[in-house]
Amino acid sequence: MRELGYVRASDPAQAVATVADDPTARFLAGGTNLVDHLKLGIADPETLVDVGHLPLDGIEETEDGLRIGANVRNSDLAADLRVRTGWPAVTRALLAGASGQIRNQATTGGNLLQRTRCVYFQDPTTPCNKREPGSGCSAAEGYGRYNAILGASPACVTVHPSDLAVALAAVDATVLTLRREGERRIPADALHRLPGEEPERDTVLDHGELITAVELPASPTYRRSTYIKVRDRASYAFALVSVAAALDLDEATGTVRDVRIAWGGVAHKPWRAHRAEEALRGAVLTEDAVRAAAQTELEAARPTPETAYKTTMVRNATALAFRRLVPDLLEETP
Ligand SMILES: Cc1cc2nc3c(=O)[nH]c(=O)nc-3n(C[C@H](O)[C@H](O)[C@H](O)COP(=O)(O)OP(=O)(O)OC[C@H]3O[C@@H](n4cnc5c(N)ncnc54)[C@H](O)[C@@H]3O)c2cc1C
Repeated sequence: MRELGYVRASDPAQAVATVADDPTARFLAGGTNLVDHLKLGIADPETLVDVGHLPLDGIEETEDGLRIGANVRNSDLAADLRVRTGWPAVTRALLAGASGQIRNQATTGGNLLQRTRCVYFQDPTTPCNKREPGSGCSAAEGYGRYNAILGASPACVTVHPSDLAVALAAVDATVLTLRREGERRIPADALHRLPGEEPERDTVLDHGELITAVELPASPTYRRSTYIKVRDRASYAFALVSVAAALDLDEATGTVRDVRIAWGGVAHKPWRAHRAEEALRGAVLTEDAVRAAAQTELEAARPTPETAYKTTMVRNATALAFRRLVPDLLEETP
């Protein structure tokens, strides 16, 4: 039997120092992802540094929004009335993820840092560059229905699994961290990486960098936001594709004052659709305009025969998201 060390961190700085000093150490929060990986034999830390009980579990109002502690449970965050009214996309994304029992255990920080659900990553008997750098990518040649259509590399074609991360990218959240050098603030959209030649690195975080909080900025745009998740089963399944959309509409003219779109299930990271947003800003909002904007973003897509369905699906889901935001959305430009 393998020995596994356990340290109950006394404060965030001690947790950071313990993990940063030991390449074999990992933070443990709710454990719903990391413990699974220990059991599957695809994570082999020698020491677990338990941060799950640190007092990072408050949701506080700030001057311009909300600050959510990294240990706030997914259920508590989804139930928070301020989040439900100010950032509905975040609530909907959380409620679309996992099951009630898992959401009661899963934390905000852990959710963002959960690892891919690629079947080859989760099977230690198969080559996977993310699990074992240099071993190859079984998904590129094998079962490919879940693979990325945007931003993939020959080294890795998998997608990022967190629903919350997609919503946070669309509402311009900021991730606050603590590392040995001090605190830093990372736009949620810049937390995760495209695979490039280092698919083993999911994020821009250093080893031993602790997420301490997430900040949500308030704005009328995020107040009118939603999240659509398309999946094989109605619950307890990861996204085939998902869309977080936020909108500030000039009701008198029907023109888009401001807009945010992020896609899940299409890339190694939540995919902020900047080109689609640019196409919609200042335009009269119609379903045609939304579909054309999504298509502009999809010019960069590189689908395979197995993933070609995702381009249609994400375009349709984007149109559906805007129809939810504006129920009387016109089908055509008047
Ligand atoms: C059956 C099942 C279905 C699921 N379905 C979905 C789904 O549909 N959508 C979805 O989004 N998720 C889904 N999940 C994933 C679930 O949401 C995650 O497992 C959970 O959010 C991870 O949080 P945790 O606190 O348990 O993290 P842990 O398992 O404790 O940690 C996960 C990772 O984050 C690191 N970590 C944890 N906290 C911090 C921190 N504060 N700073 C730095 N690093 C940290 C750990 O070291 C580890 O690498 C599902 C999980 C299961 C088991």
